[in-house]
Amino acid sequence: MAKDGKSKKEHVRVMVRNFEVGSDELFIIAGPCSVESRDHIIEMAYLVRGAGADALRGGAFKPRTEAGKFDGLKENGLRYLVEAREKTGLPIVTEIMAIEDIPLFQQYGVDVYQVGTRNAQNFPLLHALGDLGVTVLLKRGMGNKVEEWLGAASHVVSRRNKNLILCERGVSTFDSKLFRNMADIAGMAYAEMEDKYPVLFDPSHATGIRKLVRPMSRAAVTAGADGLLIEVHDDPNYAKTDGQQSIYPRELEFLIKEARRLRAEYIDSTAGHEKWMEKLQPNMTIYFQKEYLDDVCALLGSDAERLRVRSYGEDTGILQARVKTGHVGKLKQKGGYAIGRLSMWSSGPGEPATIPMASVEAGGQPKTILTLYDKELLEDAGKKTIDQRYTHLRRLQVRQSHPGDLELIAKAFTTYTDRPLILYQP
Ligand code: PEP
Ligand code: MN
Repeated sequence: MAKDGKSKKEHVRVMVRNFEVGSDELFIIAGPCSVESRDHIIEMAYLVRGAGADALRGGAFKPRTEAGKFDGLKENGLRYLVEAREKTGLPIVTEIMAIEDIPLFQQYGVDVYQVGTRNAQNFPLLHALGDLGVTVLLKRGMGNKVEEWLGAASHVVSRRNKNLILCERGVSTFDSKLFRNMADIAGMAYAEMEDKYPVLFDPSHATGIRKLVRPMSRAAVTAGADGLLIEVHDDPNYAKTDGQQSIYPRELEFLIKEARRLRAEYIDSTAGHEKWMEKLQPNMTIYFQKEYLDDVCALLGSDAERLRVRSYGEDTGILQARVKTGHVGKLKQKGGYAIGRLSMWSSGPGEPATIPMASVEAGGQPKTILTLYDKELLEDAGKKTIDQRYTHLRRLQVRQSHPGDLELIAKAFTTYTDRPLILYQP
């Protein structure tokens, strides 16, 4: 079942060349930490493609914790990446460190602009990338909370650019003698659930240890990662950077096959879990106008029979149906329905709740109360109208009639006209 079937937030898919990142297919980026030479990156591109990768990585501009170390081939690195792309067809992923380099990246048509952990909160850089249409892969800052990471992401997508991919790469750890970082699978899973952009996991930087790349890849995919970013080297002992955490190309082949199997299982199982959880939700009755029947069924992926649709009263034009609690949110989010809750209102403190009413949230505005009640009865009871107690509430005209809920419902539907309305009764 497709990921869109999940009840969480709407997911965005990001195109990298022909690949839909965030779909049911895992997106695998693989390659050496750095572009080391023309021949090497071309060789590595063939190897990772042969192992089943979808994109080639390689740093041309390398951030180094200390000065004086190999910091990349710069423009030549980009040139070689482009050559590797031409030969293999793999899109290229490479780190951008400075705003000034953007024109160069554009000139070489870099497919994915990686923002590394050290620049994860470089807001001017994020804004500059947010103003372009390029695809950004935003790593989590090594000292950033998940909220800060997702906050940084919002700096990119609140601009013009909606092509964002997130990447969890671990956070600083007190156990730094052994591990380069702490692999935060929970952080990754949380971002995947709560943020609408695809989330990848980088087991190489998250651990810093070659033999942990496979178990952490498994863990990440099982926990919902949309893809992996993996460092690979054919001769890691002689790699210019990050050899200790780079796996061999042949190992990559096994890892990718295994990860794709786990992904299929994850997608399947998650769909089953959603159905299971849906069954556990309590039922409620909803009321809506007849003309929306098809729309409601389509939005809920159900039919009139399963929803036990029947008409409400005689000649009211209103239908009632039984749905799960979670369905109401779907109708609101996906269908743009205004949702109103039916309940009983009490005319004063200590008075029994006897007056039917519907509270409707109108686009984040204060709630509007739609009600129909007997004016005299109300005045006798509390000497107060709803309007006096809550000045921000809108009151329907008072009518001298019995406060029947059927009439209330009919009134609510004819009065609340700016959006289709669903009323529900818990
Ligand atoms: C990298 O991907 O090689 C890299 C430098 O990553 P990070 O920014 O996560 O350390
Ligand atoms: Mn690296």
